[in-house]
Amino acid sequence: MERLSRHLDGVSLFVKRDDCTGLGFGGNKVRQLEYYFGQAIDEEADTILITGAVQSNFVRTAAAAAARVGMECHIQLEERVPDVDALHRSSGNVLLSRLLGATFHCYPTGEDESGADARLEEIAEQLRRHGSRPYIIPLGAAHEPLGSLGYIDAVAELLTQLEQQSLRMDHLVVTSGSGSTHAGLLFGLRAFGSQIGITGVCPRRDAHSQQRRVAGHLEKLASMLDLDPAVTPEDIRLTDVSLAPGYGRLNDATVKALQLTARCEGLFLDPVYTAKAMAGLFHLAEHDQISGNVLFWHTGGQPALFGYGEALFPQV
Ligand SMILES: *Cc1c(COP(=O)(O)O)cnc(C)c1O
Repeated sequence: MERLSRHLDGVSLFVKRDDCTGLGFGGNKVRQLEYYFGQAIDEEADTILITGAVQSNFVRTAAAAAARVGMECHIQLEERVPDVDALHRSSGNVLLSRLLGATFHCYPTGEDESGADARLEEIAEQLRRHGSRPYIIPLGAAHEPLGSLGYIDAVAELLTQLEQQSLRMDHLVVTSGSGSTHAGLLFGLRAFGSQIGITGVCPRRDAHSQQRRVAGHLEKLASMLDLDPAVTPEDIRLTDVSLAPGYGRLNDATVKALQLTARCEGLFLDPVYTAKAMAGLFHLAEHDQISGNVLFWHTGGQPALFGYGEALFPQV
């Protein structure tokens, strides 16, 4: 990213394009869903249940994967973002999930992970009574981070690509939402013997809470794989500089990152995750916390842009 790098003192910026993972407009959830759907197919499920924010990329990609393997998909949309407009509820990922034929359910709050999971269980129970075989993709941090396995695979892919292109990375920056991607990448890097630093940028909760969440995923991965890459707490680096005023809500630095990336590189970020991550990357560079070759892991999410049209460019 030569032109964008000119805005970053001491940083040569590269991008890993996981917005191009292919299925149903792509994004990081495609790599995660490979493992959930593997398990669902093993269990001979015929219906997928998943919960997320109104503009969730995870539910949209799950609906696409369900279509692809011939399963039904039930999605539960949680009210995580206050005061949203009509576009937010009808366009972007909502439009795509409709097109994919998903059945919609609503959940009235957005900060109740165990409640949202419990409601999925209730829907699953109803479906079972009608003869379906449902499979739940859970939200809460107490569950095994199955999706992180896709990001351990992604590290193997990255290290091969770096070797083929004779490139060396000093640092990696990625969004840390549920933490599945961040934990998978960190675990994978250390398990494959790479010491590349990685910083997660928080779009959802403060750095302290996110640190605990990622640490929990790492512990579970170690026991799932019976492998301990000895990740230290200091290795779980996080920043929440671009979080305010909260999940799914814009701020000036985020809008600037979105515009600058588009205008320098013709590359679209999304308003909820990757633009916040890029704003975090700018902050880290300005404060000399990263330098050299930095890899920005683009986790996708661009369909949400269309749900944020009015928020980004208000009509007068
Ligand atoms: C879900 C999502 C993330 C966060 O990934 P986690 O694995 O949940 O941390 C980042 N970017 C986009 C575009 C997403 O949809």
